[in-house]
Amino acid sequence: MQNILFIGLGNMGAPMAANLLKHGHQLTVSDLNPEAVAKLTGQGAQQAEDLKQAAAHADAVISMLPAGKHVKSIYMGEDGLFKHLKKETLVIDCSTIATAEALELATEAQKFGLRFLDAPVSGGISGAAAGTLSFIVGGSKQDFEAAKPLFELMGKNIFHAGENGAGQTAKICNNMLLAVLMTATSEAIALGVKNGLDPKILSDIMAASSGGNWVLDRYNPYPGVMENSPASNGYKNGFMSALMLKDLNIAESNAAAAGLATPMGAAATKLYRELAEKGKEDLDFSAVISLYDEKII
Ligand code: NAD
Repeated sequence: MQNILFIGLGNMGAPMAANLLKHGHQLTVSDLNPEAVAKLTGQGAQQAEDLKQAAAHADAVISMLPAGKHVKSIYMGEDGLFKHLKKETLVIDCSTIATAEALELATEAQKFGLRFLDAPVSGGISGAAAGTLSFIVGGSKQDFEAAKPLFELMGKNIFHAGENGAGQTAKICNNMLLAVLMTATSEAIALGVKNGLDPKILSDIMAASSGGNWVLDRYNPYPGVMENSPASNGYKNGFMSALMLKDLNIAESNAAAAGLATPMGAAATKLYRELAEKGKEDLDFSAVISLYDEKII
């Protein structure tokens, strides 16, 4: 049993932390939202009254925060947690952040004798709840092996992408592809519905045909087609469009740095910007379908 400090109990962090608790780990938890903390303490976790003290007692720290600026503010700077952790502690950041930010964190962690892994995930909130996430990890092979038993309690597919930063680089390629799949699938369903087709019948046809993809199989954007999808729940409690736009912006930076044109990614970015301009950035990323039919939401 390890003493784990878990920071960030949102849509993803809460079910991930719950899975660690279920498997007998001792968890100390922290989130800015007291309700999120109460949900986990109700399941047996301890609340981190004093984050620095909790850090000093931790064998490993896991963070699941919205963006790079939140992760950096927790660990780095004048009073960041890196200063308060025991040497050799494993710091595992599961948030999706820029590769450059992950490298900055890894370099800073090394100065304090800590072990750092960038370990973003894929699989959505249903994967987090079921413990079937994919972990896409960057860091040394040795640190990866040390953290693997923890990943296996929260996920099914555990990948070592390469050295520090490689986890985030791979995750961003995946999310750019996901954004393209979501926007293109939304466009195809909207086209069929506007031409008089039933969205469920059309989705079944495409899922079993050459247009089949993860969005049609697991995350249909049209309300009522899939019972447990965010689309059938007012586009709430999923993967916020604002977070998808953050990831697409990172993809654009990575493309620019590599001198590569990514026109499909750029088209998806434009649509997610438009969605944000309409004030829908807090809705699940499948709400992008509303750009084709505003009656949807
Ligand atoms: P979320 O907004 O639901 O959760 C983030 C949590 O962090 C919130 O509860 C917030 O209160 C907390 N937080 C923010 N600043 C904090 C601080 N300083 N100290 C403590 N807690 C703080 O976001 P999410 O959907 O859980 O996503 C988290 C990360 O995982 C993001 O980087 C996202 O891109 C990535 N991700 C999300 C999904 C998904 O389907 N939702 C899937 C894969 C990856």
